Amino acid sequence: MNRETFSKWFGGPLLHTHLHQEGRIVNPDVELYQFTQLGALSYLTRLTGRSSVLITDTSHAMIEIYRHHQDWLQGPEETDQAFSRRKIDFASGDILRRSQESRPISGILTGVETDILNERGKVSTSAEVMKKLDIVIASFHWRTWKKFTGSDEISETTKAKILSAYFQLADNPHVDILGHPTVFPNELKALFRGEDLRPVLEKMKRHDMAMEVNISVDSTSPEFSLERDLMVVAGQVGVPIAIGSDLHHLKDYQLTGVYPDYITQENWSQAFSHHQSSGCHFSLFRFMARNIRLLESTGINPDNVINSSYENFTAWSTRRKL
Ligand SMILES: [Zn+2]
Ligand SMILES: [Zn+2]
Repeated sequence: MNRETFSKWFGGPLLHTHLHQEGRIVNPDVELYQFTQLGALSYLTRLTGRSSVLITDTSHAMIEIYRHHQDWLQGPEETDQAFSRRKIDFASGDILRRSQESRPISGILTGVETDILNERGKVSTSAEVMKKLDIVIASFHWRTWKKFTGSDEISETTKAKILSAYFQLADNPHVDILGHPTVFPNELKALFRGEDLRPVLEKMKRHDMAMEVNISVDSTSPEFSLERDLMVVAGQVGVPIAIGSDLHHLKDYQLTGVYPDYITQENWSQAFSHHQSSGCHFSLFRFMARNIRLLESTGINPDNVINSSYENFTAWSTRRKL
């Protein structure tokens, strides 16, 4: 596969990344991230050979709560609603601080990966804060869903609740992208068919909301048949597609020779050379090529991918903000 085919699909901004802020590497007690914002910008610029790049910084909305407030206790007089609001307000304040600190960095678009909390499609970031961000991805995360609904039930009812959540979320003007729509526990995933999401995708298309195709996994492997079915439906509907990296750590992609340390403004060039000689870049390109061939076979058109080029991305962002 040549460079031209790659850039036909991946020629635009890098969407859906989890990064450290420079000089503020946080402990991997909850999740392990490899790149800092500046490390990722320099690295991607070199990798793509462009003079500049754009990366969306979409940290998890509730990450600080999970880091430091695992056992946040509900006050004895506090209602469930008030408790839930207090958590969302705390988390939103944290995302706002982060976006204010990141905004001056050229090449970083501010954002969040917010959680879908219930069947009404409520999310874990306040509307006031989402309004101030460049990109909002809303994703279903089982861990957060369980906490907020107070239920770990897996049944047809759960499926109906999730579809209802997606359907109502599609009307939320602050949400730009529905993140990894089929990342569920296996038992729950087994209840879904790609077709189930067609009404959701049709509504999203009307609002120019994008559906994420997550390329952090090898979607050609057998366990991703639901993802492949969904890509076909998305191609038929013509909903905008966001190719998301969901970048946490390169070792999550099962590549060879991954640089073992964090990658920052100081050492990115060293990490880059390491990846050239270790075969890591080569295995990364092979991995991406498999996903590209799959995308090509599903009927999704690169013109419909919001980040296949910078022009597409600008056109989509402009339409969203009208
Ligand atoms: Zn996610
Ligand atoms: Zn993510």
